[in-house]
Amino acid sequence: MLFDTHVHLLDERFDDDREAVLAQLTGHGVGNVVEASSDLENSIHAAALAREHHTVHAAVGLHPHSASEWDGRTEDELRTLLQEPKVVAAGEIGLDYHYDFSPREKQKEVFEKQIRLALDVDVPIVVHSREATADTMEILRKYPGVRGEMHCFSGSVETAKELVKMGFYIAFGGALTFKNARKTVEAAQAVPLDRLLVETDCPYMTPVPFRGKRNEPAYVRYVAEKLAEVRGIPTEEIIRITEENAKRFFGLA
Ligand SMILES: [Zn+2]
Repeated sequence: MLFDTHVHLLDERFDDDREAVLAQLTGHGVGNVVEASSDLENSIHAAALAREHHTVHAAVGLHPHSASEWDGRTEDELRTLLQEPKVVAAGEIGLDYHYDFSPREKQKEVFEKQIRLALDVDVPIVVHSREATADTMEILRKYPGVRGEMHCFSGSVETAKELVKMGFYIAFGGALTFKNARKTVEAAQAVPLDRLLVETDCPYMTPVPFRGKRNEPAYVRYVAEKLAEVRGIPTEEIIRITEENAKRFFGLA
């Protein structure tokens, strides 16, 4: 079944029908989703959502937008959440120089703190990097033991190849289906099959043919179809491979 490795079902855009969307997941062929967090409060809710739904696992952490919120208690609270059986990764963590909602120096500091925490607790990291490739890669190179995935990948073939060499998985989302996605398509063709993941990042990044509407986990099928097309293999094969990869990456049986 489809494994949507990155969702934000706690977003307010799901307030009216969250339970219905969750109840319909398997009917849409989606066997698992990972709820990615943005700040500490969101992380606590994501862990709870995962506890309540067998199809949901959680990644907990501070998104670079929220890096300024890091204080003396954050690390201990995240560490506690990371011990929960349904919490499978630290994320989403990284750098975002597009919005710069937190100062860049703070973003880098909090990114590294969370990488070290993930290494300490032995969980993988889910990395968000926007307009910050050079600094993201410089930081990741400092932690050769870290297991990670680059979420919503839109970088170059060279960056994808370096990440793969570092042991990373590469997740593709709705952007792969966009008309101007030539660079992303080339990267998707260069990543070894056993390192590919699919995601929606819903409610954001809605794929063609639903652009403009709220994104949802069911639409991960369109990402898988596009990935199958650019790799020249059947969609069912891509679904099987990306599910296997996601389970291996997140340590699920
Ligand atoms: Zn996200």
